[in-house]
Formats: sequence, C-alpha cells, structure tokens
Amino acid sequence: METFEEHYADLQATLAKYMPGTDLELIDKAIAYAREKHKDQKRKDGSPYIIHPLAVAEIVAEMGLDIESILASILHDCIEDTDASHDDIAKIFGSTVAELVEGVTKLTKANFSTTEQAQMENLRKMFMAMSKDIRVVLIKIADRLHNMRTMQYQSPAKQIIKCRETMDIYAPLAHRLGMQKLKWELEDISLRYLVPDDYNTIMTYLDSHKDQDEAFMNTIRLTISERLSNVGIHHTAYGRIKHVYSIYRKMQTQGKQMEELYDLYAFRVIVDTIPDCYNVLGHIHDLFNLVPGRFKDYISTPKPNMYQSLHTTVIGKQGIPFEVQIRTWEMHETAEYGIAAHWKYKQGTGAGEEKDFEWVRRLLESQQDSDADEYIESLKIDMFDDEVFVFTPKGRIVSLPAGSTPIDFAYAIHSGVGNAMVGAKVNNRIASIDTMLQNGDIVEILTSKTAKGPSRDWLTICKSNQARTKIKQWFKKEKREENVAHGRSSFEAEMRQAGLPLSITIDPEVSPVLLKKLAFDNWEDMYAAIGYGGLTALKAVGRIRDDIHRAMKIQQSERLPHLHRTEEPNTNRHAVNGVIVEDIDSCMIKFAKCCAPVPGDAIEGFITKGFGVSVHRSDCPNAANRHEPIQAARWVRVRWANQEEQPFETTLELDCITRDGLVLDVVTAMTANRVRLKEINGKDLPDNKSVVTIRFEVKNVEELESIRTKLLNIRDVVGSRRGQN
Ligand code: MN
Repeated sequence: METFEEHYADLQATLAKYMPGTDLELIDKAIAYAREKHKDQKRKDGSPYIIHPLAVAEIVAEMGLDIESILASILHDCIEDTDASHDDIAKIFGSTVAELVEGVTKLTKANFSTTEQAQMENLRKMFMAMSKDIRVVLIKIADRLHNMRTMQYQSPAKQIIKCRETMDIYAPLAHRLGMQKLKWELEDISLRYLVPDDYNTIMTYLDSHKDQDEAFMNTIRLTISERLSNVGIHHTAYGRIKHVYSIYRKMQTQGKQMEELYDLYAFRVIVDTIPDCYNVLGHIHDLFNLVPGRFKDYISTPKPNMYQSLHTTVIGKQGIPFEVQIRTWEMHETAEYGIAAHWKYKQGTGAGEEKDFEWVRRLLESQQDSDADEYIESLKIDMFDDEVFVFTPKGRIVSLPAGSTPIDFAYAIHSGVGNAMVGAKVNNRIASIDTMLQNGDIVEILTSKTAKGPSRDWLTICKSNQARTKIKQWFKKEKREENVAHGRSSFEAEMRQAGLPLSITIDPEVSPVLLKKLAFDNWEDMYAAIGYGGLTALKAVGRIRDDIHRAMKIQQSERLPHLHRTEEPNTNRHAVNGVIVEDIDSCMIKFAKCCAPVPGDAIEGFITKGFGVSVHRSDCPNAANRHEPIQAARWVRVRWANQEEQPFETTLELDCITRDGLVLDVVTAMTANRVRLKEINGKDLPDNKSVVTIRFEVKNVEELESIRTKLLNIRDVVGSRRGQN
C-alpha cells in the first residue's frame, strides 16, 4: 500500500509529464484543504482518508485532464463527507472547481443498486450531469476505480453490490466513453469478487503458462519488429494476453475450457502516421496467414466512442491465431483514455463538442416514454450491442445498432423523415424497408408529402429504441381513436385467452383497483396505450390477472355468507329439502317459484344473495343464462337425494273453457286423489276462456304426471302447463 508521500510524488511526476508548468502551489493548497477537512476520517484499511482523493487525482491526471479536474478530484469528497460547502470551495478554488465537486457529490449520493425506478432516476441525473460537464463523470469513474482497487477492505456483501453496480453502470460507461484501459480494470476486479472461482481458474492457468506465453509473444513481436525496422517504419510493438474478463466471456459464450481457447493474444503496433498503419497491415499479412473475415478498418469508420485502429487476425508458424491492432499514438491515447484523451487534444478549441454527446442525447430522448425496466433494458442493449455504420447519400456516417433497417436509419436522421417514409434505396437500389443494413451501405430514404405515416408493423421490424420510441409517439399523437379500437380488441382477445370475464372491467368495485394496478386513469387510455404500442395486451392482462382472480373469489364468498365449503367431493353430503348441492355442504335450499321443480326433474342450483341455493328446473328460462361467463360462477350442480319422504310443492296451470262449477270439479278431483291442495285461483280471459292455477304437494314427478292426466280428464279442461310465475 502506497503512503501519502508516494501518492503525492506519483501525482507530481504525472503532472510534470503532460502538464509541465502546472501551478503546484494550487495543487498543494487543495491537498492541504482536503487533508484538514478529512483529518478525523480514515479509510476502511486504516490509512488516512486523504490517500483516497489523492489517488483519484492521480488517476484523473493519468487520463490527462486539466488542472480544474485535478483540483476537483482532490476535493471530491469534501462536500459529501465534511462540513465544506460549495461556496467555501468556490471562494478558494473558483466556481468551476466547486461545480465539479458538487456534480461528483450528486453522483456519489445517487444509489445505483436500489430498485429500477430509482435507478432510472439516478441514471438520468448522471447523464444530465454528463451532458453538462463530462469531467464530472470522468472524476466519478476515477473515484470508482480507486474504490474498486481497494475493494478487499469492504465486507463481502458490499463487494457484491459494488461490483454488480460497476458491471452494470461504470464499465459500460467507460466503454461508451472509449476508456478501454479503465473498463478492463473495472471488469477484471468485478469478476474477481462476483465469480471468484472462475476468476481464480483463469488466473492460475495464466500464471502456470506465463513462460510459454511470454516466449510466444516475444517470438511474434521480434518477427514483426525486425520486418518493420528493415523497411524503415518507426514503430513500437508489443504483445499482451487479453484481459481476464474477456477470456471469461469467451469461455462462457463458447462453452469452452481455458485450454480450448484460441485467440488469447493481442499484439499492438503503434506508429506515427495513418499511412504507416496501412503499410504495417500489408507487412503483417505478408508475414503471417490471414484469418478471413476478421479484418476491421476502424480508421476509416471509427467506433461511436471514437475508437480508431486497424484490426486483423492472423496465424503464424505455431498455428496459434492472434489479433494485431495497428494505430497511431494519437489513436492509442484515445483507445486507452477515450473521451478524456479526446478532450485533452481538443483543449483550447472548445471542450466537449456537441457531436461527441450524440449518444447521450439519444439515450435521454428515448427514455422519456418508456417505463423503468424498459429503460434499463434499452440502456443495456444500446451499450452492449455492436453497431453498424452506414452512410447518407452525402457521405455522413450514421451509427445504428447491429441489425438495423432503413426504418431505423430514417428515424435516426429525423422523425419527420421516418414519418414521411414511403420506401428506401440501399446502395442505390430499391430495397424493402426491413432490409438488414450492413456496414458501409449507402442508405437513401424515399419520402412523400402524402405518406400516411408509419405502419404498426414497423414497431416489430425496427431495431433501435430511438425508432421504436418515435413510432410509438406518432401513433400516440395521431391515431387516438384507432389506437383505442385496436388496443381494446387486443386486450379483449387476451382476456378471453386467459379465461377471464370481460365484465369484471366494468364492475364498479373492481374496475378502479385494476386501473390503479395498470397505472391508468381510465380504460380508454389503457386501450390507447396498447394501441400505440406503449404496453402489450399480454403485459396488461398479466398485471391484473391475480387481482381479477382475487376479486372473483371475494365476490363468490360474499354471495355465500353462510355456506360452508368442504374440500372432499361428493362424500357425506347432507340432503337439505331432498336436494344435494355438490361442493357445498348443508346450505339453505329453496325451490324456485318460477318453475317449482319436483324430484325427478333435471335441476340446477343458483347461489342467491343471502338465501342459499335456489333450485330451478334445467328447462326454466331463468336457468338459461347459466352458461354465460359472468353467471357461471354462481350456478352449482345439484341433484335429488334418494329419499322421497318429503312432499314437494309445485304448480300447474290449467287452460279451461269457462263454466260454472269448474273450479269445484278441480278441487274434487284433487281431493279424490288425496292430493294436498295449497292454493287455487281462477282467472277469466277473453273469448270464454279461463286459467285455473293450482299449487299443491307431490312426492315426485311421476305422481305429478298422474295427477295432471286426471285433471285433463275433467270436462272443459283443455290444456295444462307446469307453473311459471
Ligand atoms: Mn470518493
């Protein structure tokens, strides 16, 4: 572990190298200030706290940043951890330094490992800060790097959290900013704590093959150097083993053991000029055998993070493939320190040019309309996916996610171009709009003033989040009615598919609960969202499925306040009033007045509000709705018990020709057959007709039918009907 003095000496040496004439007194003043402020604090390893900001300043100096960044690095924890304020720092070191420290403090306070919602908020802040002053982010990354380097002093739980966060946020950021060297170190340290077994396996292997590897790399390096010296190209060449995390990734993706991996070696040739880069490439291809398809010219088309180099993979006499990267010194600086190096070269010509932050702006743009998890996902995709580079007809390079189509291209140019697109030309030929673009394609978008706007299919064809977001925005704005109709039918189809009743969405008690879960004020808005693609019907139904099931259960149990449900089917059921209700034991039973069933009739049970089960004849019109989904839950299976002691009340309507004494004849017939009559009513109808309604008791349907036959034998009784009120 380095002492304060050693760190201090290192910082001075680095500054002397790239910024000779730095005001060291000002640096000393900052160190003294921070030292005083942190004087009562210690690092986890027991060393004085000042070691940390000093080490961060050293990393920032290695990046080659300006004096203000160095000062801010030294002071970066003062606002966060001590009583120093923005104004205090501004008074002594100027407002720029104070702004930088404040920016770092904000990022430090942001907790990137909480829920995704919070994460999005923090990431947004981070990017905001970044688009305002990139130096804040660079200092924050240096701060993280030093904390990673001293990770062994943290608790195991904290190690995991911090390393996860580093892999999720800081390493991708470093990659995007082109800071390869930092990115590798962040990844390797993270791997060491996140997957210690694999990390150790790789390290042990590399250790045990060290001599072998060095001998191989030496041979290749000498072969290259000898040739280049012979032809008079001034150069530096060296070999290295690829970093641990990239080896780990290869093992994972290829499912191979360390021993089976080729391509562990990378060589670099650094030269003075771009023509020399291409000359060196020619010599490399002359010295070794080319592996086809691996040559990449990132000099003529730089990566979006500004990386430039020629890459080629070759095989020597040893039969081991290796990659050679050829670049100039300036490209090398950019490759190692990314945007920081760029910033350094651009010093004095207006730092942080607009176009360098294009990807930041793109991320900010596309995040506005998506929810948190989608945003995190899109961020990850955008950061990790390889890019494809295509040209406008005027030769401007446009970088898009790999797999992009002319639709993506059109929206990357401008949403107006995308919305007016009617077709595309790729390399001057008409191409379909789902053509997958290749590196170097020249893409021209054909537009028309009368274009109808994007089609919904485009959402599934396009690859970039940018295009998807803009298409969704268009639909959201332009096609409300259509969206609602389209969304409603997808939603209803999805509900049917899931076997859920649509009527639940208009239930006054349940509906607000579901809407709240869906985060919409009303159903129409939700349909519209599904329509324009902001939400899928599947996702919407998935969100409310459990609530619907719960609501249906509650409603059922409310309708059966005094019914006791038992688990075992069909055993020990008690007949009540001669009827057994399946699945429900000893509930109240009544016979529906409308159809008055008697034993032997086919019957159905309906769960009534507060009155137990009401038994209907299967052919009763009131039972006809039992197959409708919303009603189905209330209809239960019932059957007649075997015992027949109890009489059942039923009703018959007799159609008669009106005459005196008819009602008496009916009563006489009933009495003669020992039928217990409960009620009798006569009603005259026009045309000398009348209806006599009788309510009486029978044991079963056979008895009922024999009585009916006898009644029909009475003179002037012309017809009969089972009673229906
Ligand atoms: Mn810190």
